[in-house]
Amino acid sequence: MPLGIYVHLAFCPYICPYCDFAKWPYRESSARRYLDALVAEIEREAPQPAATIFLGGGTPNTHDAPTLAALIERLRARFGPPGGGTTEITIELNPELVGPGDCETYRRAGVSRVSIGAQSFDAGEVRMLGRRHSAAEVDRAVRHARDAGIGSVSLDLIFAVPGQTPRSWRASLEHAIALDVDHISTYGLTVEAGTPYAALQEREPNRFLDDDAEAELYGIAIDSLGAAGYEQYEISNFARPGHRCAHNENYWDNGEYLGFGVGAASYRGGERSVHTRVLDEYVEAALSGAPIPGESERLEGERRAGEAIMLALRTAQGVRPRLFKERYGIDVFERYGPVIAEYARAGLLENGEDAVRLTRRGRFLANDVCGAFLSFA
Ligand code: SF4
Repeated sequence: MPLGIYVHLAFCPYICPYCDFAKWPYRESSARRYLDALVAEIEREAPQPAATIFLGGGTPNTHDAPTLAALIERLRARFGPPGGGTTEITIELNPELVGPGDCETYRRAGVSRVSIGAQSFDAGEVRMLGRRHSAAEVDRAVRHARDAGIGSVSLDLIFAVPGQTPRSWRASLEHAIALDVDHISTYGLTVEAGTPYAALQEREPNRFLDDDAEAELYGIAIDSLGAAGYEQYEISNFARPGHRCAHNENYWDNGEYLGFGVGAASYRGGERSVHTRVLDEYVEAALSGAPIPGESERLEGERRAGEAIMLALRTAQGVRPRLFKERYGIDVFERYGPVIAEYARAGLLENGEDAVRLTRRGRFLANDVCGAFLSFA
């Protein structure tokens, strides 16, 4: 089984009102201490080969490029593949912080993929999301990545932003396509409890899009990106041939991964664990060599199989019963026959010879369909 490495860089230049991630506003002294803690945690782990490394956040490039390059060197030394082959190394970038020469530094450190947080090319929507970058800064970040020779360039876009219309969403998609990037992720905005957005929704519910309006935008993304040659290989992810994100594919394949940093999750040997989201607790434990506080649970038998189905259904290839039987010892049709039949009758699942997949209509209701498998387990 390939192993994925995730490293959480928890600081941001400012905090977006919809964000529910483990993140803090950047302060140099805390950021430096946090990096020391991360390195201490990484060096505790036995050296072993990993197929992918992903630096996410937070905003990784709140740290300067040489600092990130030094971190990547350490990660490669510990988790590089035998013989120094090609590990996919991704870094998430905030476009406004990408300086001249940064991408060159990342590429020299081994970065093969950058994921740029564009979110939207409409200035009003970008402000509504609490972001401060301009469309020109996204264009420039893409150009820097290309000029530096980064092999895969991805953009993140958000739909169902308050005030967004089919026309403005189409324009954002067209702008992303015109930049000729290799990969585009489109995420529907979710309002998480406890965020400033949740309070705004409480006060002004009409500013937020309803399910039908959101579905219309999702349909526009599927059609526009498909027509431009991007394969929808997962519910929210579209790639040109050869540019799928291997790191995320490993998650959807129920593969193993190790997460480093505050709030980071790992899945290894059937055990899923997640670190504390309390920054000081994490930093103190990592620096002192104590176990990192957090929670863990064992996923076994039917529960593990239910999770695996739920993840696989997110992907275009779907659940492949023969492989599933080999891996989990469970006959998908025997075990989940009634759920498959019910959703196939409703036109949400396609029950082919070699795979069970979401139909186009099923992709719009993916959470309901996937959840049904989990609760049936
Ligand atoms: S940049 Fe990302 S992690 Fe940071 S506050 Fe905004 S959404 Fe959250």
